[in-house]
Amino acid sequence: MSKFCILSNKALTLALTLAAGSVWAQAYPNKAVKLVVPFAPGGTTDIVARVIAEPLGRALGQSVVVENRAGGGGLVGAAETVKSAPDGYSLGMATVSTTASNPAINPKTPYNPLTDFTPIINIAATPNIIAVHPSFPAKNYPEFLAELKRNPGKYSYSSSGTGGIGHLQTELFKNLTRTFITHIPYRGAGPALNDTVAGQVQIIFDNLPSALPFIQQGRLVPIVVAAPQRLTVLPNVPTFKEVGLEPVNRMAYYGILGPKGLSKEVVDKISAGTRKALEDPAVRKRIEDTGSLIVANTPEQFVAQIKAEFEVYKGVVESAKLKLD
Ligand code: GLU
Repeated sequence: MSKFCILSNKALTLALTLAAGSVWAQAYPNKAVKLVVPFAPGGTTDIVARVIAEPLGRALGQSVVVENRAGGGGLVGAAETVKSAPDGYSLGMATVSTTASNPAINPKTPYNPLTDFTPIINIAATPNIIAVHPSFPAKNYPEFLAELKRNPGKYSYSSSGTGGIGHLQTELFKNLTRTFITHIPYRGAGPALNDTVAGQVQIIFDNLPSALPFIQQGRLVPIVVAAPQRLTVLPNVPTFKEVGLEPVNRMAYYGILGPKGLSKEVVDKISAGTRKALEDPAVRKRIEDTGSLIVANTPEQFVAQIKAEFEVYKGVVESAKLKLD
């Protein structure tokens, strides 16, 4: 009898746990979902997050609230996502800087990019670009390179932060071209663009979506892009590959991830909600108008992509012998 009671208590506990689990899963999300942008407003991470937040919220039936947590080249905001509860209410934007380049160069990265996140979906791939202030004495790539070669150390470049994609890719560019320009890191591409457009820094390495409006207004001059082929929006600008710098010809990605341990239900809901959002032609157009390609891959594909990108940046750090100052 007592044995029966123990068993049935266990069975009851199991049944209650399962019931609570399924009620919770059905109820998700029952309050607003936070989406952390680990950079300042005005950068590509912020742009993509703000395009997707509203239609994703509509698909989930709860609002998705974007919060900027800039600092440490993206590490501050990414670490906040790593430390948050794996309940699906604290998500973050996945960037190359936070999942690959910074962890590859910075031994003090407070997380492991391959084991501390649950990658959910890659939203878009974006080209990267080197652009200059209109006062810079070069309007195209050959002139730009010649000017840098003539004046080692005379110019500076801005980036979205130490250890970020802009920092590592420009250091790789310097290494391959044997040029020297000084790095000035910002809390995201937004503030980096502000200072470059104001002429305080002459050169910027940025992801295209945030730089493009300034280029279209003539406030920045495009020099060279990282993209599989020349861009329709910038037909006269060569790719890094064309100018003989294939290793720098890598795009950036912008996706959504959570802390490790997110349930499959949560991952599936965010993934399906994001895909639904990306089916809307108006949302697609807002992303594609920035020169980006919509990716919308599976969680498994995004996991593999982050792993591959981390390996690429470890290779970049090794081959160019890069170190943080
Ligand atoms: N440039 C991006 C921003 O400031 C972050 C860097 C990245 O794309 O990895 O939002």
